This record gives sequence, C-alpha cells and structure tokens, in this order.
Amino acid sequence: MRHLPALTVDELAFELGSRTRAFEALKWLYAQRPLPASLPDTVPGVSHRVWRPFLAGRRWQVPRVTERQESSDGTTKYALDFDGTSVETVRIPAKGRSTICVSSQAGCTRRCTFCATKELGFIRQLKAEEMVGQYLLARSEAPPDAPATNVVFMGMGEPFDNLDEVLRAVDCLTQSPAPQLRHVAVTVSTSGVLPGLKRFLAESKASLALSLNATTDEVRAQVMPQTKTWPIASLLGALREDAVRRRFRRDYFIEYVLFGGLNDTDADADRLVALLEGIPSRVNLIPYNPYPGTGLTTPSAERVNAFHARLVQRGLLTMVRWPRGREIAAACGQLVLSKDSSGFSPSTSPTVASASCG
Ligand code: SAH
Repeated sequence: MRHLPALTVDELAFELGSRTRAFEALKWLYAQRPLPASLPDTVPGVSHRVWRPFLAGRRWQVPRVTERQESSDGTTKYALDFDGTSVETVRIPAKGRSTICVSSQAGCTRRCTFCATKELGFIRQLKAEEMVGQYLLARSEAPPDAPATNVVFMGMGEPFDNLDEVLRAVDCLTQSPAPQLRHVAVTVSTSGVLPGLKRFLAESKASLALSLNATTDEVRAQVMPQTKTWPIASLLGALREDAVRRRFRRDYFIEYVLFGGLNDTDADADRLVALLEGIPSRVNLIPYNPYPGTGLTTPSAERVNAFHARLVQRGLLTMVRWPRGREIAAACGQLVLSKDSSGFSPSTSPTVASASCG
C-alpha cells in the first residue's frame, strides 16, 4: 500500500472519491506546523465517512530524527530513521532559499572509488515516501527567510538504479496544490546509468546533474568503473539529444570532482569544453573531499581557480563548489557511519550517512 506523502493527487482523489477532497487534504497536511507526527483523525474539508476508511493501514511516513548536526555555515545534516534503516539528509541554506539534499538509496549500487558511500555497500532501495519524507522533515526546520524551495537528489545512492521511486518522489514534490516545487528546482544527480538517464529525460521535467568527473573514458573508468559499460560519449549524447528535443526549461549540471594530477590539467579543461559543445550546461567544479585510503588528492586552491578560469574564458558557465558542511561530513561524498575523534570511519552499524552536495 502507498503511504502519504507519496500518493499522487490523482491517487488520493481516487481514494477519497473526489479531486476537491484530495486538494483540501494535501493543502491542509502540508500547511501544518509543526509537521504532524502521524496522519490526523480529521482533516478539514474531508468528511469522517471518507477519511476514516482511507486511514486504515495508511501512514504519514515522515522519519524520526536520530541525530542533527549543524555546521558553522548553517548547513544541517540529519540522520533519519525509517523503520530501522538510517539515511542522511542535508539542509543547505542560501540567500532566500534552502536546498534539501535527499538520499535515494541506503548505501549505493555503484562503486565510485572516491565516494565514501561505497563502503556501506548496498543496503536497500528507499521508497518514494521516504524521499519525500526526508524533504518534509528538513523543510519543517528551514528558517522562514530561507524556505525549502529546492531539492537535489545528491545524497546517498544512485537515483537511476531506483528510478520508479525517484520519479514518483519528483511527481509528489512538484504536484499541486502542495508542496508544488518547480520542476527546474528539483535536480536528480546521476553517476551516469545510461538506461535510467534516457528514461528520466523522456519521462521527467526535473533538472539533471551528471557526475562526469573526467574527460577521457580511461581516467573515468579508474574512478567510476561503470564507464566501461556506458562511456562518456553515450552519456553526453543523451543530454545533447534531449537539449534539442525538449520544449520546456530544464537545467543540466555537469558535476566535476577535481582530483589532483588526475583530471585537473589545462588539457582536461580544454577537453571538457569540447565535450560539452551543444549542451546548454552549467559546470560545478567540486574539489575532492578527501576520504582515506583512495590514493586520490585534492588539488591546490590555485589549480582549482586556474581550471575554473580556463573554463570561464572558453565560455562555460562554471561555479566552484567549495565544500560546505565539511566539518560535519555533510559535504559531497563524505559519510559518517560512526565518528571518532580523528574524523569519520565506517563501522558495522546499520546507521548510514550521506554523500551530499552543497
Ligand atoms: N550517485 C549520484 C548522487 C550521489 S553523489 C551521482 O553520482 O551523481 C553526489 C555528488 O557528489 C556527485 O557529483 C559525486 O561525484 C560527488 N562526490 C562523491 N564523492 C565525492 C568526494 N569525495 N568529494 C567530492 N565530491 C564527491
């Protein structure tokens, strides 16, 4: 059975016998402050006769917070519990808005060498309820002057290995009457799973982030083994086709983690410019957040700035994502299973954490 908040308005209308009741119920539920801990016995605008039977066996699947860590820049990382599975969600405040970074899997199905989440292996798929629930929880704590208008699927997990649930979550986040986020303000980030990428571009209006992270298949395969199955040209080809075909605004972000000496040379910058020709993209450069035992290093700030400048000079819209929330391990690719005094180390505990982007 599907639970709220992952019922679409059409499904809710079917259950409640009218679209008006579905609208009333959704509007009311999303307007509640504080966030209700469970589904209420009554909802204004929906009679008992209809609401009671609907409630039977239904849950309002918002998570329990097991830990909350706030970094000095205001980034807050939540460890959330869903029936014994923990995931982490990050709230990133900016001027006038907050972005909520949600996880799509507990653990991950992919094996990117630089990402700490791989240490967990794959635990389980998250349900759409649990993805929207992460958003609702984090949204309920966003400051009034920075409401949670944006969502990025950049937490733990590979969204395109759990695409049905991710698509449903996107539908529920963007639907009227609530929470009605703009499609362009919801971004799904992929390590480059081609079949999922193609389906997502065909079926969703949300924005897309592709974690490219290298400019040749050889280098990319060293850090992202799946490149052998889906090479760079196939991934960028899918974006290029979509850019020509689509009739609505979609943002394409190219995420590029910079590793010292591996993918940060001037030649890489020039190749990146050539690769992205014909794709109206924005590049986010992410200096590698170090994670022990990978042998990878973070380039100097000078190298990052030089790489950035070279892309900008050649006309690419580029931002450097200097780490936010690194001190609480909420920055990209960092995770906490357990914390020790020296930093963060995996443990055998089922408590998991996220790799998330600011
Ligand atoms: N699986 C999805 C979403 C999770 S990773 C994806 O790959 O896009 C979110 C972002 O964090 C990706 O762009 C990834 O390349 C980046 N990332 C992962 N580990 C990192 C690290 N150690 N340092 C910096 N960025 C990292």
